[in-house]
Amino acid sequence: MNFELIAVTFCAYFLNIRIPIYFLFPSVLIFMVFNGSFTHWQSWGHALTLMAFFWILNLVSVKLHDWPYKVFAYLAVTIPFGGLLWLWMKWKFALSLTTFAQEWLYLTIFDVLMYSYTAMLSRDSRTKSHLVRLASHDSLTGILNYETYRQDIHTLFSRSQSEQRPLAMMMFDIDHFKLVNDTYGHAAGDQVLRALVQTVARIIHEADPKIKFYRTGGEEFVLILPEYSLTQCNQLAQRIFAAVDQMTITLDAKQKLKIAISMGISCVSEADQTSLDFYNRVDHNLYYSKKNGRHQITSN
Ligand code: GH3
Ligand code: MG
Ligand code: MG
Repeated sequence: MNFELIAVTFCAYFLNIRIPIYFLFPSVLIFMVFNGSFTHWQSWGHALTLMAFFWILNLVSVKLHDWPYKVFAYLAVTIPFGGLLWLWMKWKFALSLTTFAQEWLYLTIFDVLMYSYTAMLSRDSRTKSHLVRLASHDSLTGILNYETYRQDIHTLFSRSQSEQRPLAMMMFDIDHFKLVNDTYGHAAGDQVLRALVQTVARIIHEADPKIKFYRTGGEEFVLILPEYSLTQCNQLAQRIFAAVDQMTITLDAKQKLKIAISMGISCVSEADQTSLDFYNRVDHNLYYSKKNGRHQITSN
């Protein structure tokens, strides 16, 4: 019976499988008929207790999911219900008090082990997904990082070439960002980076969620735009450029700050042998914007 109860606990609490009462009750009745226990009053008590156990465990699992001490709620349900369910068996089979106590203790130990094992597994999987996110995202701004850019550009460039589909890239860099750090401090600089990313990410989200946004360096960002022609990329670049111009960042110390960016954009051309040729052209365009007086977009 302990294994049955462990299975019930696992389904009700850890998998949180919801079985409506109009389905659960007939299933228990059918089981009792097959089991030959239909005529025993103790079996009826056991069946009703089992259904209540399942239902309460379901409820605890949902209601206290985010409670840090949920283990106590779990034990507060599984231990008394385990005792009660074994008590029905004691009455039915005239078990000795020692057997009853032993079985109840085994069940409690199983319950604790199952909880610890499941908690350990979910902690492991949370750690893994956290590490995966850390490896692919920039921790300051939350967007994709350079490593992800390197992998993505390779794949997207190859696909664009083999399927003859357009692919555009946009690169931008904050003008005189060092001055922000020198004047207001590094923390203010970080705040500026986060605010800039928020503004650009909002525009991308509105325009086309397939566009990928990376922080490739300190204050340098790249967008990869699958299926975008140079004209379409230019239109989006203008929107981003204007939005950054309109941004006013209120620093923690209440000062207000404005920033500007320089941009380079380009589209994959037939002459590009590798993704690096494509990247270098975009980079060169950004460099041109900087050299030509900053706060402008260069495209070809
Ligand atoms: P330009 O217009 O030519 O781009 O000038 P700039 O000052 O923006 O460029 P420069 O390369 O001289 O300086 C970049 C600065 O970006 C220097 C560095 O301290 C700062 N920076 C890089 N990463 C971070 C970061 O994560 N947080 C902060 N606050 N600053 C950063
Ligand atoms: Mg800069
Ligand atoms: Mg730079």
